[in-house]
Amino acid sequence: MGMKALAVLRPREELRILRGHPWVYDNEIARVEGDPAPGQAIAVESARGRSLGSGFFNPASKLRIRLYSRARREADGEFLLEALSAALAYRRRFYDPDTQSLRIAFGEADGLPGLIVDSYAVRSPSGAYGKHLCVQMLSLGMEARREAVVEALRTLLSPESIMERSDAPVRALEGLAPRTGQLLGETPREAVIEENGLRFAVDLAGGQKTGWFLDQRENRAAAARWARGRTVLDAFSHLGGFACACAAAGAGRVTAIDISSEAARGIAANAGLNGLSDRITALEGNAFDFLRDREREGERFGLVILDPPAFAKNRASIEGAYRGYKEINLRAMRLLEPGGTLVTCSCSRWFSPARFYETIEDAAGDSGRRMRFLEKRGQALDHPVLAGYEESEYLKCAILAAD
Ligand code: SAH
Repeated sequence: MGMKALAVLRPREELRILRGHPWVYDNEIARVEGDPAPGQAIAVESARGRSLGSGFFNPASKLRIRLYSRARREADGEFLLEALSAALAYRRRFYDPDTQSLRIAFGEADGLPGLIVDSYAVRSPSGAYGKHLCVQMLSLGMEARREAVVEALRTLLSPESIMERSDAPVRALEGLAPRTGQLLGETPREAVIEENGLRFAVDLAGGQKTGWFLDQRENRAAAARWARGRTVLDAFSHLGGFACACAAAGAGRVTAIDISSEAARGIAANAGLNGLSDRITALEGNAFDFLRDREREGERFGLVILDPPAFAKNRASIEGAYRGYKEINLRAMRLLEPGGTLVTCSCSRWFSPARFYETIEDAAGDSGRRMRFLEKRGQALDHPVLAGYEESEYLKCAILAAD
């Protein structure tokens, strides 16, 4: 079917889009033709009539059009199936989606604006893997195509269950209320997934995000390479992902702390699942206080891991976030034994990689320690970073060596 609606941009507003950016803001549009309904597909052209692609139209958002294709085409079931199979094929280059838990769709970076699909591979008692999906529909365009999305996911992945977890605050910017619920089958409250040879019990229905921070998979393995024989602190541990990876890699004593009591229980449970209970101490508490108290007591760690929640949740909170990141990094550096390692992360897309490294350097300066970067890492490959769309590069993970 041909597309009825068209947005024509103001002069030169196409340049960012031609470099890969997938958003058109309200003030970049000269005129809209064809009276599109909210959530409807709309073609986009430059002021000179150059075709730029197709997007979801949302008159209630400043982010007026979110592009899903560089061609002029409808966003129908056929399109969704095609885009999702391309996303899946991309993952198959690096992973095995039939046995591994991974993110199958990462919104705009996969040409699927606002659609997040996490696939959890869970073994049944018979030993066969089944897929349990957690989806987030964070754009009006996807919201309007919920049934078609579910249909495409069923066709492509034959999942045992699909759970919707569209409760991220960004839904409000699209004029959407939070929405959660079962879309297919029954999602197990507790599921055991596998990662880097370890097992983790996760809560797919009620846990943080969609249950597990899949984006840290490779960083957990990278951190574990510095753990052998070390005393480790995993601050902001959630369910013990870094702690278990480090203990399994030969760490001495591992202390894992999280402010949530459910998470702290989860750390202990996951330590047990992997036969690591004797080496991992799970604590419920505030990492800021913990770091300060350990520093006061003169305690030292050979490896400290900092993976806090996003301190910057929007542009306005960037300065506050700077103080938070600087404080924990400074304290962590002071806690390191000679020759110790710091693994420090930021998952806020509002806190740019440049700003993050600058913050680490400020902390290093104040710490009086000489710190050297061993690695500058990012998110796992199933959360692709789209060239021209810097918002998709959100996770930073720096590994530093102390003298
Ligand atoms: N490192 C984890 C993910 C961490 S997500 C992993 O590999 O999976 C951030 C975690 O920090 C959340 O579990 C949250 O409960 C916890 N958290 C938030 N504020 C905290 C604080 N002040 N002290 C300790 N934990 C905190």
